[in-house]
Amino acid sequence: MIRTITLAALLSSTALAAAPADPAAREKAFDASISAADQQAWLKAMASAPNHVGSPHNKANAEFILSQFKAWGWQAKIETFDVLYPTPLETRVELVAPEKISLGGQEPTLPEDATSANLAGALPPYVAFQGDGDVTADVVYVNYGLPDDYKALAARGISVKGKIAIARYGRGWRGLKPKLAQEAGAVGCIIYSDPAQDGYGDNDVYPKGGARPDFSVQRGSVADMITYPGDPTTPGYGSVPGAKHLSRAEAATILKIPTLPMSYGDASKILARLGGPLAPPSFRGGLPLAYHTGGDGKVQVHLLVKSDWSLKTLYNVIATMPGKDRPDEWVIRGNHHDGWVFGAADPLSGNVAMLSEAKALGALAKTGWRPSRTIVYASWDGEEPMLLGSTEWAETHADELQKKAVLYINTDSNSRGFLGAEGSQQWQHLVNQVAKDVVDPQTRASVDARLRAKLRADDFAGGGGGGGDGLGARAVSAAEKGDDLPIGPLGSGSDYSALLQHLGVPALNLGYGGEGQSFGNYHSIYDSYDHYIRFDDPGLAYGAVLSKTVGRLVLRVADAPTPPARYGDFAATVRAYLTEVKALAEARRKGDEKREALRAGNAFALAGDPLDPVAAPPAEVATPVVELAALENAVARLEGSARAFDKALAAKDATLAPAARAQLNALLRDIEQTLLIPEGLPFRPWYRHAITAPGRFTGYGAKTLPGVREAIEERRFADANRYAGLTAAALDRYSARLEAATAVVK
Ligand SMILES: [Zn+2]
Repeated sequence: MIRTITLAALLSSTALAAAPADPAAREKAFDASISAADQQAWLKAMASAPNHVGSPHNKANAEFILSQFKAWGWQAKIETFDVLYPTPLETRVELVAPEKISLGGQEPTLPEDATSANLAGALPPYVAFQGDGDVTADVVYVNYGLPDDYKALAARGISVKGKIAIARYGRGWRGLKPKLAQEAGAVGCIIYSDPAQDGYGDNDVYPKGGARPDFSVQRGSVADMITYPGDPTTPGYGSVPGAKHLSRAEAATILKIPTLPMSYGDASKILARLGGPLAPPSFRGGLPLAYHTGGDGKVQVHLLVKSDWSLKTLYNVIATMPGKDRPDEWVIRGNHHDGWVFGAADPLSGNVAMLSEAKALGALAKTGWRPSRTIVYASWDGEEPMLLGSTEWAETHADELQKKAVLYINTDSNSRGFLGAEGSQQWQHLVNQVAKDVVDPQTRASVDARLRAKLRADDFAGGGGGGGDGLGARAVSAAEKGDDLPIGPLGSGSDYSALLQHLGVPALNLGYGGEGQSFGNYHSIYDSYDHYIRFDDPGLAYGAVLSKTVGRLVLRVADAPTPPARYGDFAATVRAYLTEVKALAEARRKGDEKREALRAGNAFALAGDPLDPVAAPPAEVATPVVELAALENAVARLEGSARAFDKALAAKDATLAPAARAQLNALLRDIEQTLLIPEGLPFRPWYRHAITAPGRFTGYGAKTLPGVREAIEERRFADANRYAGLTAAALDRYSARLEAATAVVK
């Protein structure tokens, strides 16, 4: 199958035409090489067998990708790393009291889903980097398993100590659930997919619709990403041959308690039997039963996980097209190729869009065009277990990347719907311009026009409130006014993390979605070609659109004399974050006052149901005035410096002398690195970016100005003051760089 495609692709890419001279003609020529049919054929072949790390088909896919890049004229190689990647040898979960019911195991084959019959070599449902063990214990239902849930349980006198915690997926990142259960004294953890989230609460279930059926299980990694991603045994350095690996016990990001994921069909058999009080209203999901907290000894569950903890080899495919003018300035673009099982949506839908771009860039090169800067394409391995391939690569090549990388552009899964973009906001204007130039395949409007219409119509349907606070409000306001739409901050959950948050390489993450149903098969065996073609992106129309979107970004950054970043957009975003943090501190102070007043007046007890007693929230230290003056000054300076630079460059960009241009580009190339705080963030020095990080208690979700914001949220007030200073210093370094760049331009 794969060989046939290689030959067909070779035959179709041999035509030679003249190199298009102007950028618009070049993009038109680029578009002409993008083929949804190519993508569909690649997707079918690459998703035909299990492709997790270490599987033969994942390696074959890497070799196929390599052969394609070479056929399209790229300099390409496979770069390997040997990483710790545990795979399950034995998983067992069963109800042993009040009756014996065996649960868990592999998901069943469906006649409507061809590859679900092709499970030879597939891994059973499990979560990577949990702690092996064999436990039998009573069960407590902990809702999403996040800090507020434990507070609600504590107020009802319920503890998970010595018990198995059962948590539902959602809200916070998966790995937080067993980690917080472990910290609360649980001996095991089960994470199940509640139907309210991605099952029948969302849509008809597969195979009738795309939502999760009651026998489907979400796999995933539970390595403690918040501390550092990558191989848990090589923190901060590459897992190259001969590298020192920590022992399992020494690796801070591997959990200690056995944990398994579960379907809602199985989970309902446990939940229906739980005793104890009725769970608080916020705990109730979409199952047809009254949710109880458990913990009263009525139920006993046996949970066993035993894994093979050997090192496995990763196969990153790295392809380069050297720049003709500025070979030491790199535009890097990546998507991973490993999946949990077949991985049609996650990650192959994004990977095949990336292959189309590479083919189209190769076709342009055959006409004689060469990019001004070097373009590097990367198909990462080992993203699913914990961003292994991209992190080990970034850590191994840290020095070179910090010298050369201009921008990293990431995609992961793709689907039908609207453009989503997040990342470093100096690229926000470029993303907006590109969105105006790309046509939506369903409506023939630009993808920008469609997204604006969606924001405005949704806001109207929601009562016209302007999208609430934060990014939503800024997006609605921009859509109304015709301003550039804001792009959100990057948390974690895909391969940009090491480049952006550890090395300070600016990054963008893009994808289409909102109308497909790839949520309902996420990390199950039904993330398949059949599901993708029926429910996610029929005909790969949005795959082609993703290629055209990202291809434009790559071409425009690679070929511009100075990369088209606009620093005023970054400054305005940091201003918005600071406004949010100030409002947070103020809301906390008011909330603290209210809580103490309610406590003093015994109001919590009076408001409660005496037959279902809930303890009052405990007393807490009042939030003090956080010292934000230095940060306030730094943001004001940044706004001025950015405005002056953008204005100066807009006036002089066309006429800059080559020597000044070289000096300018050198000042801007690594400007994002001035935002790195050398000592890193509290509890997690690997994360060094002062503006954005994955939240300690959200995971994938970003926290902006994290050193300050999280310190206020977590009542670490000394840290809040200290990180306000460190963040201000980072912004001052950034402003100083912009001021130097302005002097060069003038
Ligand atoms: Zn992915």
